[in-house]
Amino acid sequence: MMDPAATPGWFRAIAIHVGHGLAGKHKNFIRFLGYVRPYTRYLILAILGGVVKFTVPLLVPQVTRHLLDDVFLSETMTATQKYRELFFYAGGMIAVFIFVYAPFTYLRHLYADKASHRAVFNLRCDLYHRILRMSASFFQRNKSGAILTRLISDIQLAQNLVGTALTNTWMDAAALLVVVSLLLRIDVLTTLVALSTFPLYLLFFRRFRDEIRTTTRQVQDELSAMSSSAQERISGSVVVRAFNQERSERRRFVTDSEKLFTTNMRRVFIQSLNQAVTGTLMGVAPLIVVCFGGYRVIAGTMSVGDLIAVTMYLSPLYLPLQRFSELNVVYANAMAALDRIYEIMDEKPEIVSAPGAVELDNVRGAVEFDRVNFSYDGTCPVLHEVTFQVSPGEKVALVGPSGSGKTTIVSLIPRFYDVNAGSVRIDGQDVRDVKVKSLRRHIAMVLQDPILFSGTIRENILYGDPTATDADVVEASKAANAYEFILSLPGGFDAEVGERGTSLSGGQRQRITIARAFLKDPKILILDEATAALDTESEQLIQSAMSRLIAGRTTFTIAHRLSTVVNADRIFVLSNGSIVESGTHYELLAQAGLYRDLHEKQFASPTSRPS
Ligand code: ADP
Ligand code: MG
Repeated sequence: MMDPAATPGWFRAIAIHVGHGLAGKHKNFIRFLGYVRPYTRYLILAILGGVVKFTVPLLVPQVTRHLLDDVFLSETMTATQKYRELFFYAGGMIAVFIFVYAPFTYLRHLYADKASHRAVFNLRCDLYHRILRMSASFFQRNKSGAILTRLISDIQLAQNLVGTALTNTWMDAAALLVVVSLLLRIDVLTTLVALSTFPLYLLFFRRFRDEIRTTTRQVQDELSAMSSSAQERISGSVVVRAFNQERSERRRFVTDSEKLFTTNMRRVFIQSLNQAVTGTLMGVAPLIVVCFGGYRVIAGTMSVGDLIAVTMYLSPLYLPLQRFSELNVVYANAMAALDRIYEIMDEKPEIVSAPGAVELDNVRGAVEFDRVNFSYDGTCPVLHEVTFQVSPGEKVALVGPSGSGKTTIVSLIPRFYDVNAGSVRIDGQDVRDVKVKSLRRHIAMVLQDPILFSGTIRENILYGDPTATDADVVEASKAANAYEFILSLPGGFDAEVGERGTSLSGGQRQRITIARAFLKDPKILILDEATAALDTESEQLIQSAMSRLIAGRTTFTIAHRLSTVVNADRIFVLSNGSIVESGTHYELLAQAGLYRDLHEKQFASPTSRPS
């Protein structure tokens, strides 16, 4: 990670040069330069290449002027001498273009792009790393499509800044100096006339920059909203089709797109105005110069060659100006993007290892909740005074109505969230006092919705323990009752699964996630509705895999179907965030409480499904 405080001298030089100073508005730009700094040498090469690329064509007006005034119009030279001069200069210029201009132009673009790609490579990796370390609540606040927009589109905008802005600024500044000094040598008055439009130009420059930054910010925000909405619809396309919602989804997309379009148009409007203003200034300026210079030629105070040279220098004089204004746009766009990127970079992951946290080693698997109170948003309490002790290897089941807090309880064990009061302890150690990584190493979860990543079956199983051998993978898949169906797939363990394992049935995907858990070999196991979505046949295979998996581990099973929790050592019954009953299946049945109610309801309507 870059140190944002480190801002070497040349950063300031650039920032001041671009004319922005170091105001708070440009804080993120300065921080971003920290990513560019390691590639300063590429930038210097690019700038050098650019200066040469720019200077060589400046020789042409000088040569033209010399040929016109001193050769063609010369009255002392013979025709042969004139031919020799002409071919010498023309040939010389062509050679300079081929042997100097070409290679330096090549280097200029090569190194500018190398620097920009390198810098954003590191920024993108840091941003991704940051995103992965975010706590669960971050992913509830930010939809995945919106996060992706920052990772891809905003980074792209930031990249343009290095590739063009950082090198062009210097090149153009150098170019302006060179051209102005050449012009001054030819004729001071005409030069001043040529520069007369500059102040006007600067006036517009600042005005446009702030406008563009604001609208770009809006464009990127709306793009985020649109991609997150589209991303949800695409991954849930089955639901869209099943409910015949294609038309309404299309309308929604069109509405979102229209909003984006409108904002984009505002940006386009400002950018076009920018182009029009600078274009006009650049178009009118030469006319003024020709009028003024022509007047002086007629009056006999300036030579024709001088006038032609001056007019030929006008385009290299105004080109950097035009590029400054394009750069203005690039800068404003990049600043808006950097603001969005640093918003994520600056967000503190809520769950981090405390300073002085210790490794959690030799876990036995005792889990203890001590008067735990918890709320997701700090206002609406979800768990209330939850207290229990589970011994190593004990099988616990959590039952209770939907929304009673079962998932919340088990999310606190791997410390996906921190408790508001009380504590969660493993082997007597508060989970906040151990390193997060070492804590999660000992816990495996099998959830209702089995998530597989794109890749092969083997890779998905290895997710449980990347260091495992092929033999371990086979063993784990056998234990998970997955071996046979995996072998029947074309490619076996190397068969590819889609983004969410679409080519596999729910039960098959679940068995792969169970194999993953076997490979991880955790002391504590959490099964949250792992069998809720399965058909009966799959369920039997999975139940037998599960009973193998839970052997010797502390296990928390959440299940709606009470038939699956009958064998638990202890059952906790939850209601509104509190444990209201606990005991074995028979003990609880003997009490005339919530558990018996739930049991009777399911018994009365055996088709009832988890909500
Ligand atoms: P269960 O698993 O027993 O169905 P949960 O633990 O998922 O219940 O939810 C308990 C309560 O917490 C519910 O009222 C639910 O609305 C709320 N809740 C669950 N997850 C979140 C969350 N990420 N943010 C805010 N509230 C949540
Ligand atoms: Mg739940």
